[in-house]
Amino acid sequence: MQIVREGTDLNVYQKPLLEEIIVKTFNRLRRIIKALRNPDNLTSVQKDFLKTHWGVSSDRELKLLADCYTKIQDYISRMPPIKNGEEASCGPTDFGYAYPGNEAQGIYLCPYFYTIDKKGEDSQMGTLVHEASHIVLNTEDHEYGVSGDKKLRTNLNKSKLKSNADTYEHFFELFKME
Ligand SMILES: [Zn+2]
Repeated sequence: MQIVREGTDLNVYQKPLLEEIIVKTFNRLRRIIKALRNPDNLTSVQKDFLKTHWGVSSDRELKLLADCYTKIQDYISRMPPIKNGEEASCGPTDFGYAYPGNEAQGIYLCPYFYTIDKKGEDSQMGTLVHEASHIVLNTEDHEYGVSGDKKLRTNLNKSKLKSNADTYEHFFELFKME
């Protein structure tokens, strides 16, 4: 289990916060993967999200999605230390960034990240899932926000839906209860 290791530039306040968030994110991912492999455990809201945002409902499709979340979980357990992002790469409302496909670079966080909620919608935990999905699933930022997912769905752009980072984050954020 990854805890914030040596080599990070996080300060004494950020380090314990990140340690807590990483452990909680890992544990919530475990619940999600379990639920996707045993769909009887999914709530109607979660099933509805899967159908409307990703267009998946069969056991086979849910298992494939469980494999995607397993990749995210696996990365979070072994990723390099989280770092603070470069000032030039952080917009005023950016949570963080990552380099798609580049596992060695890891996740960078922006100052705005430290002002957002730990576990609700657009949360710190969700941000880790969003950034990890860029790295291990090569997701992109086609649309942000829940309404963005719906817009993609309306346009019936299935491949874009499957590769939209925020969609992985928002499904994760539906499992709020710790
Ligand atoms: Zn992104």
